[in-house]
Formats: sequence, structure tokens, C-alpha cells
Amino acid sequence: MTESTMSVQNFLRPGKISLPALPPMSLYVHFPWCVRKCPYCDFNSHEWRGAGGAQAFPEQAYLDALRQDLEQSLPLVWGRPVHTVFIGGGTPSLLSAAGLDRLLSDLRALLPLDADAEITMEANPGTFEADKFRSFRASGINRLSIGIQSFNSEHLKALGRIHDGDEARHAIEIAQTNFDNFNLDLMFALPNQTLAQCQQDVETALSFSPPHLSLYHLTLEPNTQFHKYPPTVPDDDTAADMQDWIAERTATGGFEHYEVSAYAQPHRRAKHNQNYWEFGDYLGIGAGAHSKISFPHRVLRQIRHKHPQRFMEAAAAGSAVQEENEVDARDLPFEFMLNALRLTGGVKSELFADRTGLPMSKIAKGLTAAVEKGLLVDDPQRIAPTELGQRFLNDLQGMFLDRSGS
Ligand code: SF4
Repeated sequence: MTESTMSVQNFLRPGKISLPALPPMSLYVHFPWCVRKCPYCDFNSHEWRGAGGAQAFPEQAYLDALRQDLEQSLPLVWGRPVHTVFIGGGTPSLLSAAGLDRLLSDLRALLPLDADAEITMEANPGTFEADKFRSFRASGINRLSIGIQSFNSEHLKALGRIHDGDEARHAIEIAQTNFDNFNLDLMFALPNQTLAQCQQDVETALSFSPPHLSLYHLTLEPNTQFHKYPPTVPDDDTAADMQDWIAERTATGGFEHYEVSAYAQPHRRAKHNQNYWEFGDYLGIGAGAHSKISFPHRVLRQIRHKHPQRFMEAAAAGSAVQEENEVDARDLPFEFMLNALRLTGGVKSELFADRTGLPMSKIAKGLTAAVEKGLLVDDPQRIAPTELGQRFLNDLQGMFLDRSGS
């Protein structure tokens, strides 16, 4: 047990903020391995190269470590109901059916999961076997997030994906048979992609009537192969045309564009992600996972050891947490706005005080300036970006970095 978890009392002492109630709580579970590392990926994912090049990973040892990590974290979240669970990675669909079942049993045994909790698992098309996914559903997974990225085999090859277009379609068919709630992840502005090819990808995705779509602009992130050896990607004008067409086509398809990259059919928003954007709390367990946990007078952030082996050793030794710090009250307004302004409809103004424990006066100057610039809607009941604010989101968020209001 860490010094901090042993002294939870320490987090309960008076402080500079005052939360009227604790935010809703989510759980994130990280699975850190993939069959192959994609050249654009900056997530904490590792190709597993076992003894003799075996394509396997230490499933039982990792599940043991997750349970230890959760047990060690319990004092920080004691008794708080968990509304959503997200098992991400990496490629968690590499877990065996028995392994996933054990993981969910451990979570249920240790945490008060809501009876109707949204429990999502990320899945990659190269890993779909009908029996396994039927079993995942029976174990309690009730939402899949499928990393399709594209249906175009050439583009999938350029992205280093292990599946082709046919496998992508087959994976969705298996998902549809077993799950009524699922998300398709697609990317656009891919290497050498034309507008017509982007349209074809989105049309194919829509033909499966997915409850939710995540459509991401490919970005060349630092510390990736694509950053080191950049591929030729569509120019800014073409990428903007793709974005505009996506907005129109998803709207005519009945989807609500509710967050920068997220599109949902009615009542099908991702509850787990919505909690992040509304600055809710989350406990993150597993290699490199991040947590944000509120107490009445402070907000705590934690990061677990990133490398899977180091994480497992640290969890076995008593604490998987590598970094832990209390968020400075002066940073909370920016952190809140960074998340809330991603929601196209914004949030109710009162959520600011509910989640940060600070009065609205802390962001009053920024709000007035952003309304004057036409970046925020002029409505005292809501904090919501205008269309211009959505287009210049970084500038808008940056307006709340100013500490002079504190
Ligand atoms: S499958 Fe996903 S997590 Fe794994 S390397 Fe590719 S993009 Fe990253």
C-alpha cells in the first residue's frame, strides 16, 4: 500500500476548494499489448515478443497485477458506485474468454458496479472470433468499440493494421450479432486518401447502422514512426473538405455530433467518455493508466508505471502508482474547460462549481472575453462553444490558462 493510500485522511483535510458533492465515478482498465505496433500510435501499447518469439502475453500475471492494483486503490474510492467501465489498450480483445471473465468477476467483487453500468471493451478486427465475443457478452461486456480505422485494404496496410477490409466487415457482423451497442472508430486524412475514398469509408460504416461513430483526423504524433518518417497526407484544404462532408453526412444519417470526434444516434452517447468530458472522476488501473479522484477539498491525479513488466512488479511490491499529485486549484479552471469545451453543446454553467469546487468568478474574465470574440455562446446558463469556437478550439481553451483570475 502506498504512503498516500495509507493516509487517505490526508486527502480529507481542508483545502482551497470546496466540492458540493463528489462527481460520478468511472473505471478505466488498461491492457498494454498489441500483435503489432501501428506506426501512428502513441498509446501505451507494446508488441509482445515472448521467449522464442512466441505471440503470447502473461495473461494470468497481468490479471493478478490488475487485481492487486485495484485492491491497493480501494481506500481512495471506498463505497463510491462505479457507473461505467472501459477496458482499453492496446488490444484487450486479445484476452482469452476466461481471462476477461476473471477480470470482470474481480471488478464486481471489489467495486460497487451499477447494475446497468456501461461496460465497454476495445476490440480490433484482427482478433474477432465469434465464440470469444459471444463469451465476452455473456461475461458482462455490453458495448464494443471496434478499431476499424478504414475499410480500404491499401490504407489499412499503410496504417500498419493487422486486418484488411473484409476482416473489418466480418468483425462488425460478429459485433452486431452479439451486441446491440457498439462504436466504430474510423480515421480520415489517411496517407494518400482522396475525398471520395474518405466518403466511401464513412458510407460503408453507416451501412452497418452503428449506434456510435468516432471519426478521427489522423495526426502525426511525436514518438511515432509516422512522425519520424512522415507519409504524404492530404493537404489542409482536402482534410477540411472531409471534415465538412462528414459533419453533413452524419447529420443526415441521424447522428448527433456531440463532441469533437464523436457522433451518436439518439441516446447512444458514450457514457464513459461523457464522464471524462464533464470532468467526472475515474480510477485508472493497469500499466500507464491515469486517475483523477476528487475529495471534498482537493483533486488528486495518479499515473501507474508505464512499462507492463515494471507495472506488474510494482503492483506485486505494493503500489503500481508511479506519480501522484494534487491538482493546483489555479489549474482546475483550465483542466475543466479543456474537457467541457470539447462537447459541442457545452455544459450547464453550474457544472463548473460542482466539479472544480471554485466560484464562477474564477473564469468570469475568460468567459466575457470569449463571448466578445464570438467563441462562446452568450448564455449565462451554459458554457458552450459557438461554431467558431469549435473551429478554433485550442485558442478558446487557451483563454482559460490565464491565472490572473485566481
Ligand atoms: S492496435 Fe491500437 S493500440 Fe495497438 S498499436 Fe495499433 S493503434 Fe496502437
